[in-house]
Amino acid sequence: MEPDEFRRHGHAIIDWIADYQAHIRDYPVVPPCAPGDLVDALPAAGPEAPETMEAILRDFEQLIVPGVTHWNHPRFHSFFAISSSPPGVLAEALVAALNMQHMLWKSGPAGTELEQVTLAWLIDWMGLKPGWFGEIFDTASVATLHGIAAAREFVVPGSRATGNPLGMTVYCSQWAHTSVDKACIMLGIGLDNLRRIEADANYRLKPAALAQAIREDRAAGRTPICIVPTVGTTGVTSVDPVAEVVRIARAENLWVHVDAAYGGAAAVVPEFRHYLDGVDDADSMVVNPHKWLFTPIDLSCFYTRRPDILRRAFSLVPDYLKYEEDPRLVNLMDYGLPLGRRFRSLKLWFAMRFYGREGFVRMIRNHIAWAHRLADLIAADDRFELAAPVTMGLVCFRLKASDDATRKLVEAINDSGFAFLSQTTVDGKFTIRLALGTFSSTWDDIAAVWQRIRETV
Ligand code: PLP
Repeated sequence: MEPDEFRRHGHAIIDWIADYQAHIRDYPVVPPCAPGDLVDALPAAGPEAPETMEAILRDFEQLIVPGVTHWNHPRFHSFFAISSSPPGVLAEALVAALNMQHMLWKSGPAGTELEQVTLAWLIDWMGLKPGWFGEIFDTASVATLHGIAAAREFVVPGSRATGNPLGMTVYCSQWAHTSVDKACIMLGIGLDNLRRIEADANYRLKPAALAQAIREDRAAGRTPICIVPTVGTTGVTSVDPVAEVVRIARAENLWVHVDAAYGGAAAVVPEFRHYLDGVDDADSMVVNPHKWLFTPIDLSCFYTRRPDILRRAFSLVPDYLKYEEDPRLVNLMDYGLPLGRRFRSLKLWFAMRFYGREGFVRMIRNHIAWAHRLADLIAADDRFELAAPVTMGLVCFRLKASDDATRKLVEAINDSGFAFLSQTTVDGKFTIRLALGTFSSTWDDIAAVWQRIRETV
């Protein structure tokens, strides 16, 4: 592709994106397509001869876009509303253009160093103390895998060579994300050795139950290694008592990995900083800017107070990657599983600079305020009940009538394309999760969704 041709198509694509952002409300949030539609519409084999960009872009619009679920849609309230922002989108294009890979400092000095800088900025914005070592992974699932791998090395040094002793045990609450289970599968710890500790009436891990489980496991000759409290659980955004968990861990010489994948963002707003109370004394933590910090997926920040342990767990240097040791530089390949690394920090840096701390605070504060305002409207409608307290940008509620009625309501809304809700089970009952946090949402969007829900019942 000649530079002039690239420029022409590039301008057309940027125009398309700008129009998409301006008219995103015209799209159905969930596309009305059926499984197999796209597979059937595309040829079974790739093209032998080159095709024109015009043809590719035409098919993008006519075949691909109709199969897109619009995560940036202001009425996307499913899962955790993951939204990117225009500066993040532009940075993503630059990341692809540069295509830098900073496994070694030398292979990507700016990638290595911007990762340190932006992650330190974020620590400051979340009101935590400096001194964390940070690196970026694709997802929180991978970050948590690293937290538990570091815990294993911390408690059983050299286990990367010798394998796991029998009965290595990990603890989290019954509300923790399944990424903890998957990490236990991947690390050979085994699901039977993950203890899901009982939660209290507000869905927070019970410290006394945790301490007792650890005592019992020790008495049975097991090897506890790690506790994973959550700040902002996926189901109900409850916040585990991290400070108490850390106290228990210190007494037992265990590692604490905090899953703040969703809830860490709330701490950027000064009045919600307390959600991270105790985290400064933990050993590692994950925060996902691709969830609620307006950065395109994928960007998950892994932090640790103990990079020496992480390095001991992962560093392996084959001949072709040998480098001079220099205390002034970090080679990120030493601190985890992936060798190749995308220049992800650029998109976080763009978003942080474009909006500034003020902008992030304003957007997140609005989302939390709107969640409370919506919860008030729900509580005032006799047909509905709230299923859990609102702490962040998630409202959990259901119809009083029955599980079946609530399920049908979610299906009707999602099928309509007007909004996208998700569901969970709280206290044994089918519950609607309505997540706020989309960059482009306004209160009018949320009010319109509530109106649609009321009309659909
Ligand atoms: N932790 C929590 C609390 C989550 O809610 C999620 C996903 O929603 C994850 C971890 C996994 O995130 P990721 O998709 O980045 O692996």
